[in-house]
Amino acid sequence: MVSKKKAAIGVLSYQGSVEEHLSMLSRLEDAIPMPVKTEEQLHQVDGIILPGGESTTIARLLNVFGLMEPLRNRIQQGMPVWGTCAGMILLAKHIRGERPHLGVMDIVVRRNAYGRQIDSFEDQAVIPQVSPDPIPLVFIRAPWIDRVDGNTQVLLQLDGHIVAALERNMLATSFHPELTQCTAFHRYFTDLVREWEKQ
Ligand code: GLN
Repeated sequence: MVSKKKAAIGVLSYQGSVEEHLSMLSRLEDAIPMPVKTEEQLHQVDGIILPGGESTTIARLLNVFGLMEPLRNRIQQGMPVWGTCAGMILLAKHIRGERPHLGVMDIVVRRNAYGRQIDSFEDQAVIPQVSPDPIPLVFIRAPWIDRVDGNTQVLLQLDGHIVAALERNMLATSFHPELTQCTAFHRYFTDLVREWEKQ
């Protein structure tokens, strides 16, 4: 039997749903979960997850730890990245009313788009590219994507709003698969990293 190479998947570990992502990855046999805080750790991973949390706080810490520029460079060189919620905001080239952070993905996002009245909610949907089974969706003070530009593909729209998208090596979701028991998205991202490695 041909042994498959495992992928080292980093989780940016400053703030937010870090432990939850690491624990989901630890359930996958193809992934080696690795916390990332330093540039040295960044260079050891094959792909990275930017967790949910508070995008302004995570952006501030990226600058404090000197990781904003090296992370942007690695993504632009093709390293797969997946931003969940705040992580998606970090990736966006355009944030309504604010300056971008990493500014690498061709999406226009709106922070806290669902407003105060619906702070958090849950739903489910089938996303054929990711899994044939319905995926539980957890939204917490979530952004949505107003518009995708360039070659960005929409993976899911909910009530007319784009909540998941893919542009080459960059995956973005408004919701938090790490706060559910469903590993489908973590598997999908791990496969993306392993595919990318082969190229
Ligand atoms: N509202 C947060 C922000 O704007 C994102 C919320 C989340 O990641 N759950 O950064």
